[in-house]
Amino acid sequence: MICIPITAANTQDALRDMQAAAPLADMLELRLDYIENPDLPCLLADRPRPVIVTITPREENGQFTGTDAERLSLLEQAVILGAEYIDCNMGWHALPRLRSIQGKTRVIVSSHNYEETPPDLPQRYREIAATGADVVKIATYAKRISDNLRMLELIKDADRDCIGICMGEKGEVSRILAPAYGALLTFASLVTGKESAPGQIPAEAMHSIYDCNGINRTTRLYGLIGNPVSKSRGYILFNRLFKHYGLNMRYLNFLVDDVDDFMNSFGRVLGGFSITMPHKQAVTNYLDASDAISERIGAVNTVVNMKGRLLGCNTDTAGVVRPLLQLTGLNDKRVTLLGAGGAARAAAAALIHEGALVTILNRTLLRAEKLADELGCASGTLDSFDPDATDILVNMTSVGMHPDIDATPVPQGKLRDMIVFDGVYNPPKTQMLREAERAGCTVIPGIEMFISQAAEQFRLWTGIEPDVALMKDILS
Ligand code: NAP
Repeated sequence: MICIPITAANTQDALRDMQAAAPLADMLELRLDYIENPDLPCLLADRPRPVIVTITPREENGQFTGTDAERLSLLEQAVILGAEYIDCNMGWHALPRLRSIQGKTRVIVSSHNYEETPPDLPQRYREIAATGADVVKIATYAKRISDNLRMLELIKDADRDCIGICMGEKGEVSRILAPAYGALLTFASLVTGKESAPGQIPAEAMHSIYDCNGINRTTRLYGLIGNPVSKSRGYILFNRLFKHYGLNMRYLNFLVDDVDDFMNSFGRVLGGFSITMPHKQAVTNYLDASDAISERIGAVNTVVNMKGRLLGCNTDTAGVVRPLLQLTGLNDKRVTLLGAGGAARAAAAALIHEGALVTILNRTLLRAEKLADELGCASGTLDSFDPDATDILVNMTSVGMHPDIDATPVPQGKLRDMIVFDGVYNPPKTQMLREAERAGCTVIPGIEMFISQAAEQFRLWTGIEPDVALMKDILS
């Protein structure tokens, strides 16, 4: 069930938002602390969905500044008017009074921690359950990705209706998966900007991208790990593809800064995952095996969970080579490759494998030299770029990536008579590609690489060769 909090500033706006939320929500939470002088009879009269009535005081991160007596009076009124649920924080002295008059209204007893997800979650659950709560609600802040799994396990083991949420960007996973683990509901915002807690996902995305109500315990989970992940569009692409091919699979974003924490929690729970900056090399330490090209590169961007064994693969290689091969052969082509990170390693290995003559240029010369030594090619610093010795220029640095969209890794005047391929795909056309186009070069935008490498990931996870035209359509 998806519950949308109504956080309007007055009764009229709240009534409007309730109607707007109804098609996307199974339940509404009336946040009376946001609504000035709420007209509760009016709000409850023609409610389009069952409601939770909540009044959170300012000292508990809500908006309510009235007295305790006013708060109690509003909640009593909600009970008298037959609200389906009222929410009352654990430890509030009025809780026994509300329990004594609750009638058919069910009481959610809640506990919030905006700092962390404490180790003693089950103990917290037991304390709340001991109040006689009809529904136990625990909301904590996710500091690490494993916090989500602890919260989901708590929900799974609950012996009564339970709502469990990890807040913040790292907690998004819990919001999407909570119903599948048995939570009574998950909260989603009406639209971006109307969140009542950090990390709430817009309800529209919960339905149209994640098909949240269709997730169950047999759903195979996939995702992207990295930092940052919020700008990646993989979650849109893969979820739409899964839906198109009728697969009970979902792809989520995992904001990970501690690879060890991720691998020891979700690492073997997922059916597979993509890896982006800065974890492509670190993940290799946790795998059971890697394919030949990943071994050579020492970096993976894809993991496939084969019945508990984790296999590392690198589809960035296909991502670089396939779009180029559609324009030209690569044997004996002089390729200047900018960058010496994970993506550059994959590009260099793949291009050399195709017979290209590769020169690796990087901001940090030592990294370029080290990689070039490993792969047997030339190296230099970024300012040694020579257009007269370049048939193909490939940028695998992050220069030009959002938000530094005016940056470019090479001076404008040096782009001429060559194919220019930019790995950066956000923005879709980087400053370097714009300048290359103006100079008459043939350009390949990063989205081509993204689609080629993603198509290969999809094939590895599902065995299905996806329709590339459909993938372009989804991303456009
Ligand atoms: P990475 O391992 O962190 O490497 C980053 C590279 O960028 C390093 O060579 C680094 O140079 C260089 N760099 C960073 N900031 C720089 C600056 N201000 N000036 C000059 N060089 C700078 O990252 P990665 O995984 O290889 O990814 C690199 C880029 O490729 C990202 O933009 C990513 O979006 C893109 N990519 C695209 C796709 C796709 O599907 N289109 C797939 C993978 C990657 P130093 O060694 O000097 O730090």
